[in-house]
Amino acid sequence: MSSSKLTLVAPATGIVTLLSDVPDPVFAGGTLGEGIALDPLEPVLHAPCDGEVVQCAKTRHALTLKTEQGVEVLIHLGLDTVELQGQGIELNVAVGQQVKTGEPLCRFDPELLAERARSLITPLVVTDDAGWRLRLEANATGGYVERGAALMSLTPAAASVAATTERTGPWQERRVTLALEAGLHARPAARVRAIVKRHDAEVRLVHGDAEARGDSVSALMNLGLAESSEVVLHARGDDTQAVLAAIAELLTTPEGAEPQQEAAMPASVAEGEFAGLVASPGLAIGPLVTVSLPLPAVPYDGRGEAVEREDLRAALEGVGRSLENAREQAERQGQRAEADIFEAHLAWLDDPGLLESATARIEAGRSAGQAWREALDDEAEQLRATGNALLAGRVADLRDLQRHVMAEFAEAGVAPLPDVPEGAILVADDLSPSQFVALAERGPAGLCLKAGGTTSHVAILARARGIPCLVAMGEALEDVSGERAVLDAHAGRLEPAPDEARLAAVREALRRDAELREAERAEAFEPAVTRDGREIEVAANIGDSSEARLAAESGADGVGLMRSEFLFLGRDTAPDEAEQRHEYQTSLTALGGKPVIIRTLDIGADKQLPYLRLPEVPNPALGVRGVRLWHDQPALLDTQLHALLGVVPLDALHIMVPMVSEVGELAWVRERLEAVAVERGLTERPRLGAMVEVPSAALCAANLAEQADFLSIGTNDLTQYALAMDREDSRLAARADVLHPGVLRLIQATVEGAAGRCPVGVCGAAAGDPLAASLLVAMGVDELSVEPARVAAIKAMIRWLDAASLARELPDLLAMPDAASVRRRLAEIHESVSDTTTTTPERIPS
Ligand code: PEP
Ligand code: MG
Repeated sequence: MSSSKLTLVAPATGIVTLLSDVPDPVFAGGTLGEGIALDPLEPVLHAPCDGEVVQCAKTRHALTLKTEQGVEVLIHLGLDTVELQGQGIELNVAVGQQVKTGEPLCRFDPELLAERARSLITPLVVTDDAGWRLRLEANATGGYVERGAALMSLTPAAASVAATTERTGPWQERRVTLALEAGLHARPAARVRAIVKRHDAEVRLVHGDAEARGDSVSALMNLGLAESSEVVLHARGDDTQAVLAAIAELLTTPEGAEPQQEAAMPASVAEGEFAGLVASPGLAIGPLVTVSLPLPAVPYDGRGEAVEREDLRAALEGVGRSLENAREQAERQGQRAEADIFEAHLAWLDDPGLLESATARIEAGRSAGQAWREALDDEAEQLRATGNALLAGRVADLRDLQRHVMAEFAEAGVAPLPDVPEGAILVADDLSPSQFVALAERGPAGLCLKAGGTTSHVAILARARGIPCLVAMGEALEDVSGERAVLDAHAGRLEPAPDEARLAAVREALRRDAELREAERAEAFEPAVTRDGREIEVAANIGDSSEARLAAESGADGVGLMRSEFLFLGRDTAPDEAEQRHEYQTSLTALGGKPVIIRTLDIGADKQLPYLRLPEVPNPALGVRGVRLWHDQPALLDTQLHALLGVVPLDALHIMVPMVSEVGELAWVRERLEAVAVERGLTERPRLGAMVEVPSAALCAANLAEQADFLSIGTNDLTQYALAMDREDSRLAARADVLHPGVLRLIQATVEGAAGRCPVGVCGAAAGDPLAASLLVAMGVDELSVEPARVAAIKAMIRWLDAASLARELPDLLAMPDAASVRRRLAEIHESVSDTTTTTPERIPS
């Protein structure tokens, strides 16, 4: 009799990693199935469960066990280990053998693998769940585990019926020769299965006497197909032609020719679709339009051949040095993929053909910068014209290098952005906040960025405008096109070619979304009171006075953060006192007497002002930014304080100081504020508060609260600094989560330190995330400030929340090992409460 629960245990002592964090999109995206991964600290992998060995790769790096319940579990030693062709790996088992949990399966040479394989991270994936439901155990949320520790459990899904893939009708066949250099290993096998699952067809692959079902990864791998193997594809069902064509194309296209995604992606996507992290939730339909960002502006004409030649030589030398440093650093840190990219850039830089082409242009009278630009344009065009996907994929590298060298000759000034049609889904490498603002004016339906993070300033701006946005989508987006693409920024997926049924479903979801928004908006102007009677102010974050109007229209109880630096971005000089006052006054007037918190200029890190000419520093996020800037630029602060103190009514104005790390900084600004107020002959003073964005400010909140009229927690920076995870680094974006218990403890310290001294708000992105926001309220914050487009939804969530009852869960949540566990638990709590209430708040998928 088969039991009703199946437990999969750690095959070795090691460090557990979530499958979504594995740096391989096929595993991370769930194409092979759900599971977990482990970085083994011992050289033997043991059976994670009882079962029969049903597949062993010839290259010994992967094997599959089938349990008596029919569940298939793939154990894949390391990443890209297929390329080792079995070197350094010894199998202890063979196909057909029965094994017991804990029996050794294979032994490997850790030194050889550490040196030769991309990674030792070993995914453990349920490739066929036989209708059972998988759950990760507490040990599987990350960190050290002993061999044998329970990682996953499977239970029969309630009313699950294993889907039958058998079809009727005549078989059709197609013969192909495998072009996959590493043979039909786990990754392409998973892709074959994904193709089969998307089609209404039954598929078999036949090689000699061996036959495999197309929807069984283990059977496909067991065929042992190597490069140049002949295989016959058989299919029957309604989609026979389409499925044969798709599999044939996959098997006859060399693996390197496909776009590869580097970053771990959160969503599982089908072939032809792209995954990304949700920076601003929502749905959109529209044509995909790639935005090529303007290159640095360089002079067109040269100042004489000799001068320009020498300038080009010096620029190439400078860029070469910085690339070499970057390459060495990447290598030291074991980041082989990055080191390879720098290596490739260095090779282009040394390319005699490119140099010759640039020199010829200098001889024709161009400046060095312009000559380099034209030479690389030419080369890029030639690569594209080859039609070879692999070569065309190198165009992005070439563009990077073009920009890099041209920046050496850049003139100050802002290059204009290209025109884009209204209603398009824009695709770009990355955008600066000012580029985003300019593009947002054109009314895009959505935005897809190859780079970026979920708390980057572009993400913040996108949420403010309710523009669906995915970030960290990787280089695979190069050359993407589609006339009616779907951007699903709930599920983290871009679908360039959805079928009619999908389009209709998305249109219907957009219609329902609009209805829900409408219902929330109807109550948006009412106060937000929790079910246990706490009134929470829901204010809006804005960048300029035009957004103040949006804030007023959204029903916000005020402005909780006006990022004044947005007035200073994207221009050649700082706005003067009159211009600033006009913006601040317009914002106050728009809010009609409700409180408006204006933050003093927060420049530095990702927000740079070229005209301030700040020195380049190795780590700008830890450099002179926010309030620290005032010591070097006191006139800038005085002008801003004068502009602020010129508004009426002063009792609606609150001034907030960013990046405070010690109380003396706030005292210093108060002194300056006092001096300016006296100078202006004012009797009234605005309230002055501090942002809590640096761990030291959170830990010393009581001191700060003695000096401050209010505190506002900037969870974006607080998360970045507490976790040492750059908010702009797309590879860390999924983990830089405010719900990390470490960050939550800092928030708790802030609330406790300020208790009885001054109110505490939150103005980081967490305030607009319903899951996180509910916890913030339960922790005791008095105000949430969110993008105007989110005010109504957050107010709806607060009305649904019983803060006192959620507060009782706090000790358990704070004791959890990581953000993912807290997020999961919070989602469960929300769900269980929703089951007992009639209204459900909107939730942003994590
Ligand atoms: C924050 O850090 O959370 C914050 C609100 O400030 P910004 O995002 O502008 O850095
Ligand atoms: Mg900040």
